Amino acid sequence: MTVEAQTHTFQADTKRLLHLMVHSLYTDKEIFLRELISNASDALDKMRIEALRQPELSKDGETLEIRIDTDPQARTLSIQDNGIGMSRDEVVSHIGTIAKSGTRELMEKLKENADGDSASELIGQFGVGFYAAFMVASKVTVITRRAGEDTATRWESAGEGEYTLEDTQRDTYGTTVTLDLLPADSEGGLEDFTDQWVLTRIVKRYSDFVTFPIMLKVEREEAAKDEQGLPILDGKKTIVVEDKTLNSMKPIWTRSDVTDEEYAEFYKHVSHDWSDPMKTMRFHAEGRIEYQTLLFIPSQPQSDLHYHGSEYGLQLYVRRVMIMERCEELLPRYLRFIKGIVDSADLPLNISRQRLQEDRYISQIRKWITKKILDTLEGIQRDDAEQYLKFWDSFGSALKEGVAETEYKERILGLLLFASSHDPTNLTTLESYVQRMKPDQKDIFYITGESRSVVENSPHLEAFKAKEYEVLYLVAPVDEFLMQYVFEFQEKRLKSVGKGAVDLGDENEQKEAADKLQTLQEQYKDVFDLLKEKLDDHIKDVRLSNRLTSSPVCLVGAENDYSPQLERLLPKGNLPKQKRIMELNPDHAIVTKLKERFEKDPTDSLLSDYAELLLGYGLLAEGSPIPNPVRYNQVLADLMTRTL
Ligand code: ADP
Repeated sequence: MTVEAQTHTFQADTKRLLHLMVHSLYTDKEIFLRELISNASDALDKMRIEALRQPELSKDGETLEIRIDTDPQARTLSIQDNGIGMSRDEVVSHIGTIAKSGTRELMEKLKENADGDSASELIGQFGVGFYAAFMVASKVTVITRRAGEDTATRWESAGEGEYTLEDTQRDTYGTTVTLDLLPADSEGGLEDFTDQWVLTRIVKRYSDFVTFPIMLKVEREEAAKDEQGLPILDGKKTIVVEDKTLNSMKPIWTRSDVTDEEYAEFYKHVSHDWSDPMKTMRFHAEGRIEYQTLLFIPSQPQSDLHYHGSEYGLQLYVRRVMIMERCEELLPRYLRFIKGIVDSADLPLNISRQRLQEDRYISQIRKWITKKILDTLEGIQRDDAEQYLKFWDSFGSALKEGVAETEYKERILGLLLFASSHDPTNLTTLESYVQRMKPDQKDIFYITGESRSVVENSPHLEAFKAKEYEVLYLVAPVDEFLMQYVFEFQEKRLKSVGKGAVDLGDENEQKEAADKLQTLQEQYKDVFDLLKEKLDDHIKDVRLSNRLTSSPVCLVGAENDYSPQLERLLPKGNLPKQKRIMELNPDHAIVTKLKERFEKDPTDSLLSDYAELLLGYGLLAEGSPIPNPVRYNQVLADLMTRTL
């Protein structure tokens, strides 16, 4: 039975992305070959790894390789591998769609700034290399057969919204990608990609380290030979066609003379990124366990950095042979943005996932790699503030998660940057904060909230401002979670300005302030009881505050309460509703007059309106929503009517 070719349309996003890649990328068009070779090399790695477990997949005597074939007359170029191949479904999901998490965001960003350079950076982040073929081809045909399956699939598209799919035959497992090349046009960056010299140069430049042979049929002129095989001088030349391996296949981490450009190309191969890495790190460990690592910090975050369950890990090699594409066991999750490889001399080739997780060597390697990466980051932080800031913008939010672990906690804390009341534009480290602490200041203070502009004006800061104590502004959503794990840095406690009592100044000052409040508090007891009663749904206590200098009121938590921001971040119902503590400013006219009014007539019906207004004031000031805005406005309007 023959199945007719079916026509499918690309997903809308895929179509637009394709259009952009073809029409607005200023990147070197020749990188399409790098991308296709990279995919072929990945497919060969997968095949080799799968064949370790299912030996029947590999045919005797078959070498895993990539073949480039050209037909200058027909103007076609094909890249062929005998790797893992794709099933029909895989073709649809890998080639017909860009099903990657974050595609939406990519399209949004592209819409915002679709000039060529940034577009190419953005596209690189999303790893959609295959589509680069359409930068140089008017039609792309893929014939692929998944290892273990009998039928192959033929996919064809002109990159303009539609593709066709049909069942076909292919002798071996693997994939052939054939390009009908656009006419050569050297001004537009379209060289003659059927020319053996052009291809040789491109492969050398971008793919020399690929560990499988990249073969090309080349023609060589040779002097004619006599019967003994000796060249005939002045004889006719003959053309000899032969297979040539274009790449050295030498793993880059075993070479001593590697240029920055070669590192960058290797990085692009491992990461599927299109931009150069921000930093290359190469380490060699000798001793009881011997291994080499080549690691990279990308220059921008990959699209799925913050997707829960996004895959990460380093490529694991054993004596130069890749045995795992993404080994998570080699990196803590908070360093998931790091790309690269580990090549170990001491692991069995067919190590199982299970064993990897338990392997002591692996956990030692991971520990060592983590330490090396932290060393490097500390180095950048110390020597190149500008680069560190770039790093922080891209990966700081992932790195922060590291403080939830016990290992290296203090070092990771040292790498974090915070906004603070000290400087309106620049970020600070905890170390610089500590250096700036006032002589009588014992703790490190911070405030959490939605944004800098909200927390900056929070009443909670008033007393700290008056004392000129610096306060860190923790305004990223993860900061809330982070602070559940951070208690001290360099033996200084980290304290939220919105929780517990504030202890400002030296011991004498603190005692004096506490005594004064205590005495006053007693005078306020009855009016506070009334407020508590009126606001019982929201407030568990009312007390006087030494936090406030100009605002009448703020809401705080007890020492171990979670903050209102955290409460908002978690799904509703996950935490029981938490009541707050209302703190009032004994020096504010609203507070003193409220007391007078209460003393005149404790049954005054307006007192309950004032209670509500105070609660609303406190909530709004810290950026929290008020429980019933309509009611709040009514009370406010009534009050205005009476006083105007
Ligand atoms: P990326 O390789 O960055 O994931 P691509 O668009 O280049 O993105 O490729 C998409 C997917 O298609 C690959 O992840 C792989 O699963 C599949 N693929 C592409 N080329 C091949 C190939 N030669 N052999 C097998 N699978 C391939």
